[in-house]
Amino acid sequence: MERIISVKGLRKVYPMGKERVVALDEVSFDFIRGGIYCLLGTSGSGKSTLLNMLAGLEKPTKGEIIFNGKHIEKMTEKELADFRQKHIGFVFQNYNLLSDYTALENVELPLIFRNVRRKTRHELAKKMLTAVGLKDRMYHKPSEMSGGQQQRVSIARAFVNKPEVVFADEPTGNLDTKTTIEMMELITNMARENKQTLIIVTHDMEISAYADVIIHIRDGKIESVEGKTNEETN
Ligand code: ADP
Ligand code: MG
Repeated sequence: MERIISVKGLRKVYPMGKERVVALDEVSFDFIRGGIYCLLGTSGSGKSTLLNMLAGLEKPTKGEIIFNGKHIEKMTEKELADFRQKHIGFVFQNYNLLSDYTALENVELPLIFRNVRRKTRHELAKKMLTAVGLKDRMYHKPSEMSGGQQQRVSIARAFVNKPEVVFADEPTGNLDTKTTIEMMELITNMARENKQTLIIVTHDMEISAYADVIIHIRDGKIESVEGKTNEETN
């Protein structure tokens, strides 16, 4: 099976006044293309730090991140920005939608960055919003939608480019139980349908049940790995 992201000896230290916080300590792991992964751990364990590094949003203090064969820890900010646009989608806890734009415009945004023609852009974004159940909310702005609906828009935006990897940091943190289940099914079904790799951060065991592989994070380290990994490691 093909590796999509490998991390080796990853370490992240944040300065905190005169102190230093070791947020990640010697983390090594291989993510396989098409897998659904969960980074599970309590608050402050280093989950978001790891996710941000895998996604090229933050640089490690030490170690390697090889994404699709490329060392992303060596890329410049400009190279990283291009890389993210081409290969990565994001879903955030607070949705991160642009408040002045309609659902349709928010979903079109990643396609604008990739110079997709206007007509194609509209078609793709509409198709995506229909797929997430928002056919009749396309022209609404975020403030006119519920939390669950806003997260559907952000899921549509994350997937519209068909990125190889979708990252989600506590994607259901602000949602009720029923909506959480709907969102998790939506996200995992989409990823499986398109054979995309999905990496979800959560502190919630119930969310981790949707993953193929659960990576337990504790004090900046991988404590254990649970689930169907691959033939090589089994
Ligand atoms: P989690 O997502 O598991 O809650 P984080 O990855 O956000 O944990 O944080 C891990 C540790 O690193 C925590 O102790 C946190 O306080 C610290 N940390 C995270 N980001 C920063 C930062 N920008 N500056 C200083 N310390 C940070
Ligand atoms: Mg976090």
